[in-house]
Amino acid sequence: MQIGQVGMTSRKLTDLFRAAADDLAAVEGPESRGRIRCPLCLRYFSREALSAGQLTREHILPRSVGGRLVTITCKECNNEHGSRLDSHLAGAAAANDASAGLGSFRSVARIDDSRLAVNFTPAADEDAAYELAVIQKATNPADVEKVVESLKEGSEINLTISFGYGETSFHLGLLRAAYLFAFHRHGYTYALAPASASVRCQILGAEAPSPDLPGIIKKAQFNGRLPSPVMQCDLGPLLGLPVLLTIVQLRIQLVANYFVLIPSVEAEPPGSLDRLPAISRELHGRHVTISRGVMTVG
Ligand SMILES: [Zn+2]
Repeated sequence: MQIGQVGMTSRKLTDLFRAAADDLAAVEGPESRGRIRCPLCLRYFSREALSAGQLTREHILPRSVGGRLVTITCKECNNEHGSRLDSHLAGAAAANDASAGLGSFRSVARIDDSRLAVNFTPAADEDAAYELAVIQKATNPADVEKVVESLKEGSEINLTISFGYGETSFHLGLLRAAYLFAFHRHGYTYALAPASASVRCQILGAEAPSPDLPGIIKKAQFNGRLPSPVMQCDLGPLLGLPVLLTIVQLRIQLVANYFVLIPSVEAEPPGSLDRLPAISRELHGRHVTISRGVMTVG
């Protein structure tokens, strides 16, 4: 199983527009010449939209977690779900690092009915103490006073720490990165394929998040480093369904890898997302090796 080398792409917006327009004309025919479609909402945009600021260079993975690859999307898609989901990816990466003993993450501690902004450092092992450092300037002093007061009384307190990301939004962020990477690699052949519609519906929030999301997005273990923070491999038909496996590397200090399964272009459209968890179980525990830009699933 082979995957081509993923090059560094720090392309300008006009270059991205030109490449996308050429690709769209090749896929849809000459009537689409000179314009592009946003890969997420599929709306058409002409060249004038570039100067009007309606199109953006979008990082497939946010820069905050080491993303370098870029693609083109409309400004609305970038702002509406892009920024929101990106913050969950960054939050998860920070929490991952902290739980591996690499630093702390910013959180909100709820102690009884007080709300404190804190830097939370998880315990390195079971016997060690965790640390909560209150961020004074982001916390209401009255809340700090109340907590200090309740500690003096020696009464029991209820403490809740939030991890700075939501599980579903985190999964949707990974799915979005995998989809944008498929567009980056395969262009409109992927974005306009009926099979990719199910992925887009999830990302755009047009459908309630699928309960299968955790099944198609899993922590991945493999030896070797990714030549790029996202990498794809065409697994061909597995259990009868053609799928793409994308490995996403989230990084702040540590490296955390996830694999995301998405239907490939040849997949049958209806229910293609629902069938992926079975394939994910089939893949579970298989060995993935990456060497010189080639990914092999054992
Ligand atoms: Zn859009």
